[in-house]
Amino acid sequence: MSEPKENICYFKGEYTALKNANINIQTHALQYGTACFGGIRGYWNEEHNNIYIFRIEDHYRRLKESASILCMEFPYSLEKFTGIIKNILGKSEWKQNIYLRPVIYKSDLDISPRLHNVGDSFFVYAIALDDYLDTQKGLNVCVSSWVRIHETQIPTRAKASGGYINSALAKSEAMQQGYDEAILFDINGNISEGSASNIFFVRNGTLHTPDLSSSILEGITRRTIMELARELGVDVVERNVSRSELYTADEVFFAGTGVQVAWIKNIDNRQIGDGQIGPLTKKLQSLFFEIVKGQKEEYNRWLTPVYDKK
Ligand code: PMP
Repeated sequence: MSEPKENICYFKGEYTALKNANINIQTHALQYGTACFGGIRGYWNEEHNNIYIFRIEDHYRRLKESASILCMEFPYSLEKFTGIIKNILGKSEWKQNIYLRPVIYKSDLDISPRLHNVGDSFFVYAIALDDYLDTQKGLNVCVSSWVRIHETQIPTRAKASGGYINSALAKSEAMQQGYDEAILFDINGNISEGSASNIFFVRNGTLHTPDLSSSILEGITRRTIMELARELGVDVVERNVSRSELYTADEVFFAGTGVQVAWIKNIDNRQIGDGQIGPLTKKLQSLFFEIVKGQKEEYNRWLTPVYDKK
């Protein structure tokens, strides 16, 4: 593991040192949150001497969809997008777990909160990132007093920067009360998701997760977990989920690029199951980590190696 000597990002169409990539204080996105972004992980495999980027195509597609919802141009093909990312990682010579943050933002120096006729730009940078939340200890979480934004307010399908005020309110409330993370209701009082992750629970061997009508972000890790569970022969149900179903579940866990697969021990001070990581969570978590690190060849279709194989 080693930090890069110089962290190179892509900004204003060029490769440049991250420390020099600065924006004007009049930038539209800074005033109104008019930006959308992605969060992509790359896992370092010491044995293969390579970084594997996880499901870049899915992330590319979601970023493009977010841009379209927010009336932004995203003229990059998947090949170009992948090439830029490989270049910033290669030029910086990253050799550790990383997190990529591609952003499309309204970059004109303009006031008035609108989406049309405001120019936009794209940048992407990488940071070192290991665990964002502890995946081993069992999280202590609460249901937030903040309600997840609804599609009629800010489209939750878009990973829109301004919408993350909602996540930040819930996350800070939870942490300032001594919890690790928050779970948000949707506007109808069904369970939606965490501040930056989707949620799953297990009951009698079946895996459940809130469906797309519950104001969730359609997570790429969520999709992965559902695919893996089905391959293991587990029934997966997407539907409305109530708070007390989580209290009485056998297992509950978060899934997301940042949180990876992190199991929940307590919700609102109620112990979930026997207070240990559940068997299905454990199985899915181990499989997930093996896959992302490039240790399961049959899932290499989800991985993009950064460095050419020697
Ligand atoms: N919901 C929200 C609000 C998020 O910010 C994230 C993180 N991107 C997720 C869910 C999980 O999505 P993914 O698995 O694609 O990272």
